[in-house]
Amino acid sequence: MEKIYDVVIIGAGPAGLSAGLYAARGKMSTLILEKDKTGGQISTTNEVANYPGSIENATGPSLVARMVEQCKEFGAEMKKDTIKEVQVEGKIKVLVGEKETYKAKTIIMAGGASPRLMDVPGEKKLTGKGVSYCATCDADFFTDFEVFVIGGGDSAVEEAIHLTKFARKVTVVHRRDELRAAKSIQEKAFKNEKIEFIWDTVVEEVKGDGLVESVVFKNVKSGELHEYHADEEDGTFGIFVFVGYLPQTELFKEILDMDKAGYLITDDNMNTNVAGVFAAGDCRVKSLRQVVTAVADGAIAAIQAEKYIANVFEE
Ligand code: NAP
Repeated sequence: MEKIYDVVIIGAGPAGLSAGLYAARGKMSTLILEKDKTGGQISTTNEVANYPGSIENATGPSLVARMVEQCKEFGAEMKKDTIKEVQVEGKIKVLVGEKETYKAKTIIMAGGASPRLMDVPGEKKLTGKGVSYCATCDADFFTDFEVFVIGGGDSAVEEAIHLTKFARKVTVVHRRDELRAAKSIQEKAFKNEKIEFIWDTVVEEVKGDGLVESVVFKNVKSGELHEYHADEEDGTFGIFVFVGYLPQTELFKEILDMDKAGYLITDDNMNTNVAGVFAAGDCRVKSLRQVVTAVADGAIAAIQAEKYIANVFEE
């Protein structure tokens, strides 16, 4: 007989893994699907200093590895597949993947968010060739080189600090004259002698034949353009882009309620507008997108899924 899972979770970031842990521990048959890298955004973060209990040597990947181990220990299944279509009208929900079709009594959407692009000429062509969205993954390639960090939020400033361990110079380029990052993070960056700032400036174009060779900056106040060329000896430099994130909710367009930016709307119990479909983590509307809030969402969603199954299927 075809398997019907109690819970299918889309996304294996902290929200999905926490939902998986709570669901499996609650003896529900649980499947966690991930299309990409297990761990989501946190697996690209080097330092996790604000997750309670993680003090020394806590990296994103090490935290994720422990979450995965814990999920599996309680019996959650994990598979790599990309869901292309969902059918949520019936009591049994259907998820059509690239590899398989899955059936479930409940779905927890924990698809997270992905890096926003600068959307300028040359950016896509030179991604992986000097343009990067992950300092943890790529910092090492720029040991003793110069790097630019684009953005002024927590990610940009934290990753700029991390990059100083590798690059000989880090320049943060921000479109305003004031950072968005938390004050505590700003203070650390301002104290770091390897970090410089360029204010009121955006990237207009990235150029290079093979690797990044130059970048065109535009001062948003004066309109002035300035092309920065790689040091002759280096031949290249890095551009790390941290200009925010976009929710990965396309799959549920016209199925679930979303805000203008595409974040899923839920109540406090992670219920979406469709009974039996829950959302957790960075993909939903919320005031704080952190590991600590993602795992809390995941736990709530799993417990609510259990209650929903008891009400709807076990009467
Ligand atoms: P964010 O807070 O949305 O910041 C994005 C930054 O990029 C802003 O400074 C923004 O400028 C700038 N920006 C946006 N579009 C741009 C464009 N097209 N060109 C140039 N600059 C552009 O994103 P984030 O820093 O990735 O943080 C996302 C969430 O994760 C936040 O809630 C953050 O608090 C959280 N986070 C927390 C931590 C931590 O607590 N340790 C670490 C990382 C992330 P404006 O300022 O002018 O809008």
